[in-house]
Amino acid sequence: MLKINDLHVSYGGIRAIRGVSLEIPDKEIVTLIGANGAGKSTTLRSVAGLVKPDSGSIELDGKELVGKSPNEIITHGIALVPEGRRVFANLTVLENIKIGGYLRKDSLDEDIEKMYSLFPILKERNWQLAGTLSGGEQQMLAVARALMSKPKIIMMDEPSLGLAPLIVRDIFDIIKEINKQGVTVLLIEQNANMALKIADRAYVMETGKITMSGTGAELLADEGIRKAYLGKS
Ligand code: ATP
Repeated sequence: MLKINDLHVSYGGIRAIRGVSLEIPDKEIVTLIGANGAGKSTTLRSVAGLVKPDSGSIELDGKELVGKSPNEIITHGIALVPEGRRVFANLTVLENIKIGGYLRKDSLDEDIEKMYSLFPILKERNWQLAGTLSGGEQQMLAVARALMSKPKIIMMDEPSLGLAPLIVRDIFDIIKEINKQGVTVLLIEQNANMALKIADRAYVMETGKITMSGTGAELLADEGIRKAYLGKS
């Protein structure tokens, strides 16, 4: 279980996270929803070791992660799929996939094959430069790259952003499949409707704080949430 307790993070004088506590139980899909600037990305970046919290703890199975380097955190079993995908545009699909396994000392061959069966389109595009892929394909590549570190937990920052509705559905199917294969998912989504539908547990963030939590179904049924995030009354 990943446990974030009373996390505070600031950028210069801006207090982006103001006492966030979250629980991400093993093998669940947990989603974080909230408006732009609420602090969702900062939460994930803190877990990944990319920003240093002012205070609070981030524990994985009882082990403190705060203070560990991003590489150490990947080695502990947590991978991040960043917002905007950030694939290496001038490298091939295969090279991008291999980079995801760069901290591993064992052979990558079996997992490369696994990625090709999870994402057949990437096999077809194996030798293509990643920059020439469509947005949806780049997103799949970013997910495959993260999975190559064999994470226990995959964190995804806005995976559906900017993608056509049909592709968004593919991405959500893949998230469900990855979870079915035993990987815990921590998901940030603008598409609150779809995210809440697949979530075991959900948290709402507003201006650096958690303002509500519950099962995905509970939040989907909540009138305030429907009005604020689902565009329904
Ligand atoms: P978005 O969906 O827009 O990414 P978010 O909920 O993920 O929003 P964050 O990106 O975590 O929110 O931002 C939280 C706050 O921290 C915002 O006020 C943002 O402007 C600020 N912030 C984020 N990154 C930085 C940075 N590198 N330097 C300064 N301020 C930042």
